[in-house]
Amino acid sequence: MKTTEIREFHTPTSGIFFRAKRRVLSEKTAFQKMEVYETTSHGRVLLLDGLVQTTEKDEFFYHEMLVHPAMMAHPRPRDILIIGGGDGGALREVLRYRIRSAVLVEIDARVIEVCRRLFPGLTSSFGDERVEIVVDDGNRFIRQTDRRFDVILVDSSDPVGPSAVLHQRDFYAALKKCLRPGGIIAAQAGAPLFHLEHLRKKRIFLKKLFSFALYYLGPVPTYPGGLWCYAFLSDRVDPRKRLRKKVPKKLKYYNSDVHHGAFALPEFMRDRRRR
Ligand code: SAM
Repeated sequence: MKTTEIREFHTPTSGIFFRAKRRVLSEKTAFQKMEVYETTSHGRVLLLDGLVQTTEKDEFFYHEMLVHPAMMAHPRPRDILIIGGGDGGALREVLRYRIRSAVLVEIDARVIEVCRRLFPGLTSSFGDERVEIVVDDGNRFIRQTDRRFDVILVDSSDPVGPSAVLHQRDFYAALKKCLRPGGIIAAQAGAPLFHLEHLRKKRIFLKKLFSFALYYLGPVPTYPGGLWCYAFLSDRVDPRKRLRKKVPKKLKYYNSDVHHGAFALPEFMRDRRRR
């Protein structure tokens, strides 16, 4: 059987590769190159600008850890905003809670259309009546909306291409204005193994913006370094306190022990200034 090899370089000399049964789609959208492959080991794999975004095999590690720490730490999340996340995985996790509304702001309509067709396990929730899909730049949306949210999730790609703006200080300053009092932001922040300096710089401005600006970690086997960093941002909620809600059923990675363990950072990530 003829196979296709997909390679994503995480450094100039290392990365990840898949032997794919076939290329399902490859196109240049208005914002990025989008590819979908059928692989034997990981099911379908979505790449944007050559970077693995999601694989059917291991997407739950990422989507559960982006969503549940904030949704579990917030006493009563009703209105949720997701920036990015056009693959639908984060939205699927948000809808496990009894919420009032979820707005997903994705810049690239083609990501939504393609994931709807090729990743049914991720996009099952797009049709939910509580969901509103907005095709727009998240950076633009937050500056012109007057809506307020209890939890905001930044499910962007890495700080390249259309996502770059979603990793900067003034984006977070503007995002904070969209939070209700007691609100929480959770954002994918990058790879501790390769982006440590970027994470350090980001934490300096996040600590000035939020009373609680905490990193937490979780494994994502197909992301650079296999370990992923997320930011938990809030002025009132400390996620390290005991959780007062029941964890949703049928999760595959997140639970209350994982929640508390995730905020225990390894030595190489500890804030040296603390000592
Ligand atoms: N889980 C993936 C990860 O961590 O790499 C990211 C998930 S999702 C595929 C990332 C999405 O962010 C993409 O669909 C991309 O089109 C979208 N995106 C990038 N920049 C954006 C922006 N400025 N506003 C809204 N969506 C954006």
